[in-house]
Amino acid sequence: MSIIVQKFGGTSVENAERVFNVAKIITNTYSNNNKVVVVVSAQGKTTDNLISQALEINNNPSKRELDVLLSTGEQMSVAILSMAIEKLGFPVVSLLGWQAGFKTNNNYGNAQIENLDSNRILSELNKKNIVIVAGFQGIDKFNNITTFGRGGSDTSAVALAAKLKSDICKIYTDVDGVYDLDPKENTKAKKISKINYDKMLNLAKSGAKVLNINSIKLAKKYNVKIEVLSSLKNIPGTIVF
Ligand code: ADP
Ligand code: ASP
Ligand code: MG
Repeated sequence: MSIIVQKFGGTSVENAERVFNVAKIITNTYSNNNKVVVVVSAQGKTTDNLISQALEINNNPSKRELDVLLSTGEQMSVAILSMAIEKLGFPVVSLLGWQAGFKTNNNYGNAQIENLDSNRILSELNKKNIVIVAGFQGIDKFNNITTFGRGGSDTSAVALAAKLKSDICKIYTDVDGVYDLDPKENTKAKKISKINYDKMLNLAKSGAKVLNINSIKLAKKYNVKIEVLSSLKNIPGTIVF
């Protein structure tokens, strides 16, 4: 039985209908005899709103406290998504970054993963649970909460896929793959069926936020195959290899 890692971005879980749509994708994968580990981002514009709320109180908050605040967006979404999966009648457990074993350096706001201890996830999978992990977050060696930088849930997913030796890391988003240009801005943008890590890195560096830059570097380092695909349309996405 293989382990599949699926990651869902903020727009894919922005309201109750979308949360149930995602819960169904996950439970279908589980019903097809897979062990499923899911990474989820904060819902919709939650992270932006949390930043605004912080700045309303203090226009120069410490990076430590900002990370404590921003990590709550993903804490909320793992609980909400897990409740939807419970409602569909499947066994599920949510884990925050630290519970899932993400150890980082203390570079608040842009922390790098130093170690990923997968024991808790493996024991939950052995108990037949679907595992829902909060993206974008970990803890440093003094147990301070850290976050990985904007779009960092992609990095959480790729790190898990590498550690768990998953065949593929599926990054579900609001577009149906990687395009040569931002498809939301350019009606003439063309979908790419396969793209190598280096070319994907160049696209990301030139502003294609569909995959976070650090996640592509990590995927290249550990040879993790990624598929970027839509959470709303059931069609093949783009393979990043
Ligand atoms: P998520 O919340 O799922 O992580 P993001 O907003 O981070 O989603 O990334 C998806 C967005 O990336 C798309 O909505 C699209 O507008 C944008 N994007 C920019 N450049 C590209 C590109 N070359 N190919 C695909 N999407 C792109
Ligand atoms: N919620 C974080 C952000 O908005 C992380 C992510 O979405 O990947 O940047
Ligand atoms: Mg993103």
